[in-house]
Amino acid sequence: MWETCLTYEHAELEDGLFLEEVQANHCTVANWPTLRAQLIAPRPQLVRVRETCFGDSPVIQDAASNGCHTLAPTAGASFVEVPIGKSVTLHAGASCTGDSVTVQTDTSLCETSFGSGANTNDNVRSFQVQDVAAPPSAYRYTCSSEESTCVRNYNSSLGALHRTHPVRVVRVTLAGRTTPALTTIQARVRDMDAFFAVASRNQLRLDLIGSQTVQVTSSDCGTAKDQAVRQVSANAFLTVYVMPGGVCPSSYAGLHRVFLNDNLLRSYIHETGHVLGLGHGNVRDPSSGKDTQYGDASTYMGKFVSENYNLPQLHWLGWTKKEELIQINSAIDSAGFIEVTLRPVGSNAVSTSSLPLGAVWDIPGGKDRLFFTVPKPRLNDTNQIGGGAVFVYRAPKCEGCVDLGLDLGTLQLARFGPRATSEYAASGLVFKPVGFTSSFVQVNGVAVEEFTSVKLRIWR
Ligand SMILES: [Zn+2]
Repeated sequence: MWETCLTYEHAELEDGLFLEEVQANHCTVANWPTLRAQLIAPRPQLVRVRETCFGDSPVIQDAASNGCHTLAPTAGASFVEVPIGKSVTLHAGASCTGDSVTVQTDTSLCETSFGSGANTNDNVRSFQVQDVAAPPSAYRYTCSSEESTCVRNYNSSLGALHRTHPVRVVRVTLAGRTTPALTTIQARVRDMDAFFAVASRNQLRLDLIGSQTVQVTSSDCGTAKDQAVRQVSANAFLTVYVMPGGVCPSSYAGLHRVFLNDNLLRSYIHETGHVLGLGHGNVRDPSSGKDTQYGDASTYMGKFVSENYNLPQLHWLGWTKKEELIQINSAIDSAGFIEVTLRPVGSNAVSTSSLPLGAVWDIPGGKDRLFFTVPKPRLNDTNQIGGGAVFVYRAPKCEGCVDLGLDLGTLQLARFGPRATSEYAASGLVFKPVGFTSSFVQVNGVAVEEFTSVKLRIWR
């Protein structure tokens, strides 16, 4: 399907949206062009007000713009859908007056109260929509026109992403099938939070606010999911549903929820990556030009065992500081070449090194950029990425990306070791390693080479 439909040309068709349509049998040869057009059309970030306590009930009113929206006097609102990056203040009076409460995620009004303590269900008369703002920080930076080596981050939702997010876990059971125990599911969410703590430098954390087991009666994936969702409160940034074995063909991510088919940490981090706005880590074979979906082992957004998201994704999420990336366009334009010394990304833990993690080339006249990076300091048991190996990715700048669906997918264009002697090329640039620093460290009684830097020469 991936090959036939060229879905990789539209990251938003992969995994989430597209698979859901396939599972619902909407994707047929005859209706594919129509469906494709529908799926890739820009979707405005709508706040939707719904009729009953559940997220799939009829929409009473929606709002695309910031500002105050008043509901019809007879409308009994019971659910509000809030896209990432927006915050909604619900008011008891018309024209955004009176008792109020502010929410930043999908919210069932049946379980929500105004500041006074009064229940919000059927009592909301108006609502104010605004962008979630956050003060600038080392991770939420802007680039001034004099800062020619500053790599701009076009993600407008960092204010909403950089916080501690409430998470619920739901263990879904079905007679005759097995589902992992609630305690092991909770442990995985804590493991995922521990991963985020390091990779995000504490910009994004998870707070487990509720756990429950719900029973379903259908072994049909779609029906089982619907039955599960209807038994669970929506009031969380992320709800993790762990499905019974053998019911669904794959794991899947929606806007504020993930459905997992297994209890592997990497499945949690992959699907939650989609919720945060990440697409897949794909790989292009430089000799054949053929792309392999999910083939990048340097990110959890591939299909392999991994240790982190890749650098373009870490940057998109606002988990790198301004000085940790170098924009190289001006140096290439003026001198025709640049030499950069990079330190390995590893776990993206805070480092005292002054070396950058990556070099970035905005492809002139295009929507994409190249990232030059060194994913790992040394080879370990996780996957076969050698210490000091250089990866070159193409990633979208994502300027004006409106929804956080599946935006930041990457394409690995080149990969070579720090001792490589050949020259490599991608998107009009040529590059090769010209030096490195390393030493041997003892790991389980074996000497392993650990790289602290790799020097690259990049030219036109
Ligand atoms: Zn995926």
